[in-house]
Amino acid sequence: MHNNHIPTEYAFKHSKWIHKMLHAYWIVIIAHITIQIACFLFLEYDRTPADFMIHVLFWPATISISCILIASWIDRRFSSFSFYAMSVTSTVIAWTIIHVNYDIRIILAICLLPIFSSVLFFSIKRVWIVCLMQMTGYFLVLFDPFYRLYLSSFDMVSIPAFLIIGAYVAQVIVTSGVEVLNDLQASMVVKQDLIVRNAIMTKQSKTDGLTNLYNQSSFKDYYEKAFEYANNGMSLHLALIDIDDFKSINDTYGHRVGDIMLEKVSLIIQENITSSDIAARYGGEEFAILIFEQSFEQAYALVEQIRQKIALMCHLELEGTSITVSIGLKSYSPNLSKDKLFEEVDACLYAAKRTGKNKTVTSLNLT
Ligand code: GH3
Ligand code: MG
Ligand code: MG
Repeated sequence: MHNNHIPTEYAFKHSKWIHKMLHAYWIVIIAHITIQIACFLFLEYDRTPADFMIHVLFWPATISISCILIASWIDRRFSSFSFYAMSVTSTVIAWTIIHVNYDIRIILAICLLPIFSSVLFFSIKRVWIVCLMQMTGYFLVLFDPFYRLYLSSFDMVSIPAFLIIGAYVAQVIVTSGVEVLNDLQASMVVKQDLIVRNAIMTKQSKTDGLTNLYNQSSFKDYYEKAFEYANNGMSLHLALIDIDDFKSINDTYGHRVGDIMLEKVSLIIQENITSSDIAARYGGEEFAILIFEQSFEQAYALVEQIRQKIALMCHLELEGTSITVSIGLKSYSPNLSKDKLFEEVDACLYAAKRTGKNKTVTSLNLT
């Protein structure tokens, strides 16, 4: 696995957890004070009221509340230190409570809470920093000879051991958590990669590599759909464009120059159609265009514009000469089937070729 770093977007969510924990500390302090008062009032308590007020209520509450207020301030002003402020606060609260309740042995377990809270930060380093803070807390309370009286020599050794074992368990939790997070991130990256690759492959399977226009098979799909729309009343025109004498261009200037001419012609087609029209490379040097939402006159003007622009272009590759195209154009009509319309446009194109090329033919009667 990579390392014990967490994804950055996860780190941003930490501020939310820090706020929640600071709230939790308030609750811990209030609960502690309430329980102490209840014990003092209703149970046997071996302290005098003054001693209770000062050493059980006032000082612990003052120290803990000051820590929380300082931590909240640091969190607002210097958020990069939030973790440390929060950990010091939880350590101080834990050891204050442990110190006050020296006679309750199980209360020591409370020093595990800061360690387990640090797990939320998904960092092994932070777990051990908090463990070190607990050790410090422990040594500080040992300075109180009165507290030391309550510890056996076994306690002296077992408390640090207890802290180390606690931190080790926290480390195991962090390690497995980081692994899960990394796996999750890795699988998300793979998934995104697949989506992108899928989109590219879909595009590649639909378009022609040389001209970037749709290929014949995707054109057929669009033509089928377009025909359905036309059946429902949308206007549709089909144009077939074929480069004139392309074979001789190839023969004279080479296949590579032929390819360049194909690219140039398709570029002119793309530049002149609207975004709702569909252009495809239908065959070797043959192009098909589906023109939508236009009158026949507009469609005619569009293909004528394409034809004229091509004819007017001179090409260095062809020693300054130009190429021409022939075009067949027809509109959808309810009495024509999909195949019949295509055949008729093809026949128009053939008529254009027969009658001199470099022209657009739209009706078989005229030829
Ligand atoms: P017409 O005016 O009647 O259309 O004559 P033409 O020479 O253009 O038509 P023909 O069908 O005889 O020749 C088409 C040529 O197009 C033959 C083929 O070698 C060439 N061709 C087909 N695909 C490609 C291609 O991808 N690149 C190149 N460079 N040439 C191609
Ligand atoms: Mg040709
Ligand atoms: Mg041809």
